[in-house]
Amino acid sequence: MSQKIQAIRGMNDILPEQSHHWQRIEEAVATLAAAYGYCEIRTPIVEKTELFKRSIGEVTDIVEKEMYTFNDRNGDSLTLRPEGTAGCVRAVLEAGLVHNQSQRLWYRGPMFRHERPQQGRYRQFYQIGMEAFNFAGPDIDAELIMLTARLWQQLGLTDQVTLQLNSLGSSAARAAYREALVAFYNQHQSHLDADSQRRLGSNPLRILDSKNPDMVALNRLAPAFSDYLDVASRDHFQQLCEMLERVGIAYEVNPLLVRGLDYYSKTVFEWVTNALGAQGTVCAGGRYDGLLTQLGGRETPAVGFAMGIERLVLLLSQQPEVVAANTPHAYLVVMGDAAQQQGVVLAEQLRQQLPQLRLVTHCGGGSLKSQFKQADRSGAAVALILAAEELASGQVSLKPLRGTGEQVMLTEAVLLAKLQNLCEGEY
Ligand code: ATP
Ligand code: MG
Repeated sequence: MSQKIQAIRGMNDILPEQSHHWQRIEEAVATLAAAYGYCEIRTPIVEKTELFKRSIGEVTDIVEKEMYTFNDRNGDSLTLRPEGTAGCVRAVLEAGLVHNQSQRLWYRGPMFRHERPQQGRYRQFYQIGMEAFNFAGPDIDAELIMLTARLWQQLGLTDQVTLQLNSLGSSAARAAYREALVAFYNQHQSHLDADSQRRLGSNPLRILDSKNPDMVALNRLAPAFSDYLDVASRDHFQQLCEMLERVGIAYEVNPLLVRGLDYYSKTVFEWVTNALGAQGTVCAGGRYDGLLTQLGGRETPAVGFAMGIERLVLLLSQQPEVVAANTPHAYLVVMGDAAQQQGVVLAEQLRQQLPQLRLVTHCGGGSLKSQFKQADRSGAAVALILAAEELASGQVSLKPLRGTGEQVMLTEAVLLAKLQNLCEGEY
């Protein structure tokens, strides 16, 4: 036998036992997106490397060490997308979608980062993101946050996540703050770890983002951004906070929240959880009013977020198991050749009349016992049985597989009514 080929480290298969969580999240997001007026956009997984360098920033973790970059056969430098915003912005600029008009967009799909794989951190992972263009005010920031809060509510995750907010101000305010930070860290040079030493010269704000406990302690003493915030940004932030309060969304202002990417300004936010160890951020975003000009577009206010699906799935898998949405209602057991023939016809009739019915038909023969074993394993609520007796009387037997209840032989009309109730959850 030849050796088995294994998947790439950090790139996971999503197996059937997990996929119902994914579907639940994706369906909830698609429905919510439509409810708030967001349209889906799909962009390529591969883009020119330059796009990510220019948008995410040269001195960020992603561009410095996490990108999957390669030369294609023409010698062009291409990169597997590490996040979705850059491609989305490129696409809307290219298609002229933000020219004198606003847009509410969302996307989903795989992202790629060469990180050290661990729980909640993978090399191919999936994000769902939303972006809104040409809205300058705090109302749209609030809308995006409210949408995510509603998603947590629908997924039963509200108790597990908390909202952190901060404002990164205007670029002038960031420049002034940056100077104050550099002066502060220069005074504490000897306490900086290697990463922070490096960032001090290139991107000192990112030192605030450090997870190293020593740095976290030092960062608590650093100058606060709030003292440098410009009036317009302060006002924007205050209005956002008020809107969130009015709709009952609790938040925590975290002055150390700076986000990893270069393109943010004004509002930044993260939804974090304590339930996943170090990989605690499940959704992150903010305003990036400067990015579109950086990518050759006109000045266009923009705000968005991305959430990691794997981390949400991890949270959902920690909850008590609910019956998965794709569990069959019924499993059709067929004994003998004639029943097998008739079973195919019956199943198709039922599906025709009850489009919501999830019915698995037994294929491949086998004893009654083994068929019932499979019926049970399928998770179905009931077994339908076609054997000699049923064929002779033109009826179908129904046997409850969960809880108590007797096996009964039914006419097709009664069977249909029972299955209809089952589909409506009234069995
Ligand atoms: P982290 O601080 O965890 O590295 P990040 O700031 O790099 O996150 P973003 O670029 O803001 O993350 O991506 C948004 C979300 O995508 C994260 O909050 C997380 O849920 C998810 N995510 C990011 N990187 C990974 C990864 N390598 N594996 C799985 N999910 C990820
Ligand atoms: Mg990261």
